Amino acid sequence: MSNKRGLLFIVSGPSGVGKSTLVNRVIARVPDLVYAVSYTTRPQRPTEVEGRDYYFVSRREFERMREAGELIEWAEVYGYLYGRSRVAIERELEAGRDVILSIDVQGAAAFRKLSLPLVSIFILPPSFDVLAERLRARKTDAWPSVEHRLNIAREEVWHYRDFDYVILNDRLEEALALLEAIILAERHRRERLEEDLRQVLHTFERSDRVEGS
Ligand code: ADP
Ligand code: 5GP
Repeated sequence: MSNKRGLLFIVSGPSGVGKSTLVNRVIARVPDLVYAVSYTTRPQRPTEVEGRDYYFVSRREFERMREAGELIEWAEVYGYLYGRSRVAIERELEAGRDVILSIDVQGAAAFRKLSLPLVSIFILPPSFDVLAERLRARKTDAWPSVEHRLNIAREEVWHYRDFDYVILNDRLEEALALLEAIILAERHRRERLEEDLRQVLHTFERSDRVEGS
């Protein structure tokens, strides 16, 4: 692997739009792409795995990390604290691996203010009703919480304008293919490839002896 620094991809959009689903699947498809796991004070859901979905910590431990400046970004979302380790993200980027993370809309805005190079992707549902259905079908939130998330979504969707890319998550396979395409395209930006290209172009430089002459 080359000594290039990794890229940071942030995937945002309203709750229930499919961010986690898309991010989990794209990680399984794209090599050298890792998920930045958040710390949270929210109780663990039965399907969740510690260290894969979240690091579940007490409010006290979270506050200690926050006061010590260990979190690159943090927020209170629906009454619980969420944040990510600065060192963990930096370590992956330094090692040349790309980092992807899913985050709510306010968190994405906070990341943008860090003036860190990043690629931002907004996920939209095909309609309000489809979003409502996905949140209900997920069965992870009680109804008042679903209603609350939907009310917030009415405002959040307008933030699509602040992002580099927008994906409409209607058919999952198509949305996934688009997310993968964005990541691969960003990896192939000319300025990212300069170092690799130099080696190729070097073979085209004039020399005294041209093969066959
Ligand atoms: P988020 O991380 O944005 O809150 P999730 O990834 O948890 O959303 O997705 C919410 C629910 O919608 C899940 O039950 C998931 O399986 C489902 N889902 C995600 N994408 C699609 C899709 N394209 N079509 C149908 N259901 C979807
Ligand atoms: P959930 O509890 O449903 O897993 O997540 C609730 C919301 O918190 C989601 O919108 C999720 O993207 C967001 N979230 C997860 N981790 C972080 C984080 O580290 N920072 C911020 N700001 N939001 C996060």
